Amino acid sequence: MVDLKRQYAHIKPAIDKAIQNVIDTTAFINGPDVNAFSNELASYLNIKHVIPCANGTDALQIALMALDLQPGDEVITPSFTYIATVEVVALLHLKPVFVEVDADTFTMNTESLKKAITHKTKAIIPVHLYGQSANMSEILQIAKEKNIPVIEDTAQAIGGTYTFPNGVVAKNGTMGTIGTTSFFPSKNLGCYGDGGAIFTHDDALADKMKMIANHGQKIRYYHELVGCNSRLDTMQAAILRVKLPYLDAYCDSRRTAADYYDKAFANHPNITTPYRAAYSKHVFHQYTLKLNGVNRDQVIAYLATKEIPSMLYYPVPAHKQNMFKLLGGNDFKLATTDQLQEQVLSLPIHTELTEEELKYITTHFKDAIKAAKI
Ligand SMILES: *Cc1c(COP(=O)(O)O)cnc(C)c1O
Repeated sequence: MVDLKRQYAHIKPAIDKAIQNVIDTTAFINGPDVNAFSNELASYLNIKHVIPCANGTDALQIALMALDLQPGDEVITPSFTYIATVEVVALLHLKPVFVEVDADTFTMNTESLKKAITHKTKAIIPVHLYGQSANMSEILQIAKEKNIPVIEDTAQAIGGTYTFPNGVVAKNGTMGTIGTTSFFPSKNLGCYGDGGAIFTHDDALADKMKMIANHGQKIRYYHELVGCNSRLDTMQAAILRVKLPYLDAYCDSRRTAADYYDKAFANHPNITTPYRAAYSKHVFHQYTLKLNGVNRDQVIAYLATKEIPSMLYYPVPAHKQNMFKLLGGNDFKLATTDQLQEQVLSLPIHTELTEEELKYITTHFKDAIKAAKI
């Protein structure tokens, strides 16, 4: 689905030098690259604070831990997302409340959000899924009326932007109370292992999240809060410093590949290409289309015979996962989510796709559809 080898080949000298420097200085933990990367990312995002941490799941957990929630408080998230978004809610003994996504954008449906809010709602987590911004203007408005903090899960959409109705453009992850992201290798800004970060404009929250990520301490060995141990290691920070200047170009390459796919599949009766909301600069972490009138398993099997990978993101929506059944969660009826789960299919998308490869994929994909019609 991604080609990290070819991407590395383009930046090999700089990456190798950055890694060697960390080894030479043996500053493996909290070395100078960590702080430098945080500052560089803050400047790129135009946000006051970037708090690096160990991965995107921890970023979400630390964000929630900073909000002083009580067991049983409700956190609203889409069910149609990667499990990390909702797992941390359950882990902290909070109650996940699943809402629908829009059938076209795959992001949080605001009508469903409004209906789900109760006096116990203490956080809302929109997800910028597949690289497209959620409908932030409406979500923020709804949250503001009820004074509920918003955590933007930006793991799939760093580098993307959202345009507010008044024309103001903001980077994903910088609009809510807190933003979180992941530097998992296949993400749009990926390191060579695990990594994540938290964003906020709020000084007090930033202070608190820094402490939480560091065993609840500000002064060494004086632990004021229950925290955790979540660090971005220096090696990963050094790699991310090399890659950050390429992030916009990486997003553009993904968009170029998506444009090719869109064109190849335009007006195809069995394919709905990804909708691009006017307010979002889509950065195509995934290229996810919707199929109708075909046997999807057969399409996947056909593609496999041509050595073309394809994936279901995700095969089971969160509200149907066993982990929530075990928690005795409510019976959520999410018809759109259930339907999308049956329709979606993601094709390879990354920074290195050549026109030749795209042609190969699109040609065989159309053949696969023909063969799998029902
Ligand atoms: C990848 C991802 C995460 C978690 O990131 P990790 O670094 O793997 O912990 C969270 N949310 C979404 C939507 C993701 O895609």
